[in-house]
Amino acid sequence: MAKRDYYEVLGVDKSADLDTLKKAYRKLALQYHPDRNPNDAGAEGRFKEVNEAYEILKDPQKRPAYDQFGYAGVDPAAAAAAGYRGGVGFDIGDALRAFMREFGGFDLFGGEAGGQRARDHRGGDRQIRLALTLEEIAIGSTKKVRVNKLVPCTTCRGRGSASGTTVTCDVCGGSGQLRRVQRSFLGQMVSVSACEKCGGEGEIVRDPCPTCRGSGVVQGQETISLNIPPGVMEGNYMTVRGHGDAGPRSGPPGDLIVVMTEKPHPVFERHGRDILSDLPIHPHQAVLGVHIEVPTLGGTAEVEIEPGTISGKVLRPRQLRGKGIPGRGGQDPGDHYLRVIVVTPAKLSVDERKLWEQLAKVSGSVPPKVQKGFFDRMREAFGP
Ligand SMILES: [Zn+2]
Ligand SMILES: [Zn+2]
Repeated sequence: MAKRDYYEVLGVDKSADLDTLKKAYRKLALQYHPDRNPNDAGAEGRFKEVNEAYEILKDPQKRPAYDQFGYAGVDPAAAAAAGYRGGVGFDIGDALRAFMREFGGFDLFGGEAGGQRARDHRGGDRQIRLALTLEEIAIGSTKKVRVNKLVPCTTCRGRGSASGTTVTCDVCGGSGQLRRVQRSFLGQMVSVSACEKCGGEGEIVRDPCPTCRGSGVVQGQETISLNIPPGVMEGNYMTVRGHGDAGPRSGPPGDLIVVMTEKPHPVFERHGRDILSDLPIHPHQAVLGVHIEVPTLGGTAEVEIEPGTISGKVLRPRQLRGKGIPGRGGQDPGDHYLRVIVVTPAKLSVDERKLWEQLAKVSGSVPPKVQKGFFDRMREAFGP
């Protein structure tokens, strides 16, 4: 998909001030949020686009760079990163993080957002990419992945204090949060922010643990097993709740966002739920017809090539119906198509040469008639 101008994406003009940008962004982000549009790739794409545009345009340094140099002047992934390591380009994980930063702890969709304590106390989200083969995508798979992340410190058992004792914060009285009631265009909302003195924890550590320096977390790893359903598409993601970074000082963990990527297949081309592969055949097979065994995603199947089959013809053999990939929502698998490629032999044996020469005499030199629809099929086969 070609990238659209960031201003166009948000539907604002180039002179729009921050307030206008924000309003436009909030409206569109809510409209296209994936939680409201499950299994809608179009909405997901728009959601990413809207977040990317806003991340750049709200930034006082990036916006002039974008105005002057366009996309070359800005790096959306870097803008989105804000402490996040790894990742390529601006993807759905970046978009969701950008969204959460903007909307904070408000529980917009009645989901799991928000908590008893301020969100600063929650561990960060982690994102990984998971590369899948078409074979794995076709039947679903279980994948073990190792994630680098913050884990609870074992020395202090995540408490952050060497002795295990803390004192109650005198500013927030131990709740860790400061509440404010605000009116905004979304209606009246209770805004909750972390207490500055205790960083949202409600307690103050007087003797920090030497291992984690009082944070309660250290760098570590977790190996987790992921069940990937069949039919996922490039860029689909799943959120594994509670498997992001451990929260500081026993705070709730963040989430792990797993973004799927599709490994290119040496033989098969994916078109949604359908598969397309090339079928090279000899000229005599194209002329006389043949039964031939072809590879499929799950094994092999025998298909019939009719006499007089032209090169470039795309076949949808009965034997390959349903040999594609199922839909993400449990829809039936698509079909496996074959694109016939009649291969002209470049090297001939002595016998072959004799036979071709004989054929040349019989066929003569009058140009052959092109079959009706030949060029339509060529266009169909090789795409726009
Ligand atoms: Zn510790
Ligand atoms: Zn406090």
